Amino acid sequence: MTGLVSHSIERRKSIPVKVGTVTVGGDVPIVVQSMTNTDTADVDGTVAQVEALHRAGSEIVRITVDREEAAQAVPYIKEKLLARGVEVPIVGDFHYIGHKLLTKYPACAEALAKYRINPGNVGFREKRDTQFSSMIETALEYDRPVRIGVNWGSLDQELLAHMMDENGKLENPAAAADVMHEALVVSAIENAKRAEELGMSADKIILSCKVSEVQSLISVYTEMAKRGDYALHLGLTEAGMGSKGIVASTAALAVLLQQGIGDTIRISLTPEPGGDRTEEVLVAQQILQTMGFRAFMPLVTSCPGCGRTTSTVFQDLAGKIQGYVRERMPEWRENYVGVEEMQLAVMGCIVNGPGESKHADIGISLPGTGEAPTAPVFIDGEKRMTLRGEGLAEQFQQIVEDYVSQKYEKRV
Ligand code: SF4
Repeated sequence: MTGLVSHSIERRKSIPVKVGTVTVGGDVPIVVQSMTNTDTADVDGTVAQVEALHRAGSEIVRITVDREEAAQAVPYIKEKLLARGVEVPIVGDFHYIGHKLLTKYPACAEALAKYRINPGNVGFREKRDTQFSSMIETALEYDRPVRIGVNWGSLDQELLAHMMDENGKLENPAAAADVMHEALVVSAIENAKRAEELGMSADKIILSCKVSEVQSLISVYTEMAKRGDYALHLGLTEAGMGSKGIVASTAALAVLLQQGIGDTIRISLTPEPGGDRTEEVLVAQQILQTMGFRAFMPLVTSCPGCGRTTSTVFQDLAGKIQGYVRERMPEWRENYVGVEEMQLAVMGCIVNGPGESKHADIGISLPGTGEAPTAPVFIDGEKRMTLRGEGLAEQFQQIVEDYVSQKYEKRV
């Protein structure tokens, strides 16, 4: 034997940044964040969505502050959230007129835990510098961190044109895509340096450089990680809808996280009309949990089923257990220490069922063909009982409930 298979990931060393009560970067676990899609001027609608995102596990929530009515609403949103016991840091997303809104509405500047500045649209030509400076000065006045968030959909066109011109003069010019990637990184880093020149310390600056293509995102962040130790916010922008958005985000972020790059993540999914905005929080958590960075909720391992599971008994059981865990988790989380690390297995037949069930804290394995409802249950690696008859899911849920109350320390 030449050695053992092992894995360990060394996180890139970044400068920790306090965003309200949450730290991003340094040694702390990677933070999950999200963004509302309500009209910020609609105070009650925004409060409800921020609360839902936070209750789903979002540790920072961003809201757009796009006009005066939105800026006026921000302090009321914060106040109502606090009255409901929701203490999540709220970040203001500013474009075009952020400098004006932050100056004209000090209560908004005060209520926000961080300001997102997009260098591509903070202002154009000579106004650019003064408007950027104004936002940084407000952040300094209120002692707030900023995210300098570059996006290729709104990249600084003057910078890009200049870099394209310079590239064109070279004997061997680089590909246009490479110049664009470089422009994204330069825009983020130069603006961070400019903020530092204006008096902001590096522990108040988070950077992001979002693009919507997986390979581009990996290239840009890999490069950005080499050029400084600012905390990095990761996310594939405009990731898309449904499985495409989830897969693309996961593919891009997994590669970067595996290299130790990334201090906070946001998954930019397009919701279905009337869909649940908290889906993006769940996906972010699942990326971090399945990669082994953090635990948020018990994972249910289940096999895909095959020709050995020809009725819906197995799918029903797996679906019910998954649903039960999600439903119970808010209460479990409040009452039991470490319950989020519990592992469950729901397996379709004896081929892999007993083995997989033994790896889990609690596993159940159906018998396969015919799917007569008879199933051995494994607890902590040992077969403890066999469930039979109708109501298998309910019996298994009770076993899980008992296990949680006996195994995990009660919070005081
Ligand atoms: S565990 Fe059994 S039912 Fe599940 S996929 Fe494997 S062989 Fe099929």
